[in-house]
Amino acid sequence: MKKQQTYSYEELYEKNAKYLWNPFTQMKEYLADQPVIIERGEGRKLIDVQGREYWDGVSSVWLNVHGHRVPELDEAIREQLDKIAHSTLLGMANVPAVLLAEKLVQIAPPGLSKVFFSDSGAEAVEIALKIAFQYWRNLGRPEKDSFLTMKEAYHGDTVGAVSVGAIDMFHKMYAPLLFPSIKVPFPTLYRHPYELADEKQVVQRYLAEMEAVMAAQAHRIAALIVEPVQGAGGMIPMPKGYLKALRELCNQYDILLIVDEVATGFGRTGKMFACEHDGVTPDVMSVAKGITGGYLPIAATLATDRIYDAFYADYEEFKTLYHGHSYTGNQLGCAVALANLELFESRHLVEHVTKSADHLADQLNSLRELKHVGDIRQKGFMIGIELVADRTTKQAYPFAKRMGVKVARRCRELGMLLRPLGDVVVFMPPLASTIEELDSMVKILYQAIAEVTLDDERQSAGV
Ligand code: PMP
Repeated sequence: MKKQQTYSYEELYEKNAKYLWNPFTQMKEYLADQPVIIERGEGRKLIDVQGREYWDGVSSVWLNVHGHRVPELDEAIREQLDKIAHSTLLGMANVPAVLLAEKLVQIAPPGLSKVFFSDSGAEAVEIALKIAFQYWRNLGRPEKDSFLTMKEAYHGDTVGAVSVGAIDMFHKMYAPLLFPSIKVPFPTLYRHPYELADEKQVVQRYLAEMEAVMAAQAHRIAALIVEPVQGAGGMIPMPKGYLKALRELCNQYDILLIVDEVATGFGRTGKMFACEHDGVTPDVMSVAKGITGGYLPIAATLATDRIYDAFYADYEEFKTLYHGHSYTGNQLGCAVALANLELFESRHLVEHVTKSADHLADQLNSLRELKHVGDIRQKGFMIGIELVADRTTKQAYPFAKRMGVKVARRCRELGMLLRPLGDVVVFMPPLASTIEELDSMVKILYQAIAEVTLDDERQSAGV
């Protein structure tokens, strides 16, 4: 067998600069910053072509579950390779796709009974939107054609997903390309517009705003789409009970509820799905990321019988869901997803996250000693640390200071890879990280934040 040729860092850098356009990346800044080029992974660590090791502090974009090079997952792919790599789900099926669909229904919130596969989180969202839109058409109610979404929402980068997104920096420039959606505030407790101190009252006000919009416009709203923890919008968990209240409002106003569990699904928040914290079953649920443990691009959109039945008809009625991708239900991906879900069970991984999250919360508390840590938000292993110029007034740092980026750079020097969201330092360790590993990662976080914020203070004071 031909061995892969090895290249020096300099050669690979040249080729990256010449040929590769990285996602969500200002290439000018990236290329000036001696980018890391990964060659290998081992457990919770990534190893670059120069042999440097880093903690995978954001689980390779929020999706790694057990770590890298997991023997059981490697083996599942090899075993499937001996049978077939890919066929199609268009008009036929395959063994691992059927078994994975069954498994997903078994572990999903009760009532979600059908699984539609795709290849990325954005697609799983697009499909959810198309299902909700067509559901009302199939029922003869085409006027219900609009979507309710949350301010600062993020649901992926394809045009439909961007249409229900609401992060100005990422989405605004595409506005002429998008379909309109109705945006309602997400219940953020750290920064909210109400002059109220009591959190319960603040939550009530947010809910009242939501209800007012539904009451006025339910006749034209197909669905509400929500993230249980607003991810790219700043790592903000919904207050306890909020999703349940939304479920009830959706029932009351005859609006479908789509829950985007792309980031929160598969144990990330300390339950298999974040909906479970509130005992909620959505009408449609989108999942991706952790489904294959971080190995291969598989995503899924789950729906209830009520939804599926609205599409089940004679062909001539044109109620078919006209959607599908070439690689949908890919056998290698489904096989590794099945092996991943088996490991979740045999290793009691969700329980591990729940237990370790308390320890992690204690460790993260140490960061509060640092006076520029404004807020620490945590749901399981999904963590955002918001840096502020002034903790008392919650004044943000000027954008140009790029404090989040500076902290990530320092973490990298100290041996951990992170990717911030503005001045929110995102920390999403692989779910199987041990207590010792988590402690090591938090130590790096502490040192990086302490040094970068102190450095900034010194520069501001002209020292
Ligand atoms: N929805 C949410 C909530 C996400 O966080 C993401 C990705 N971070 C997506 C959708 C899009 O997923 P993908 O990048 O796999 O398209």
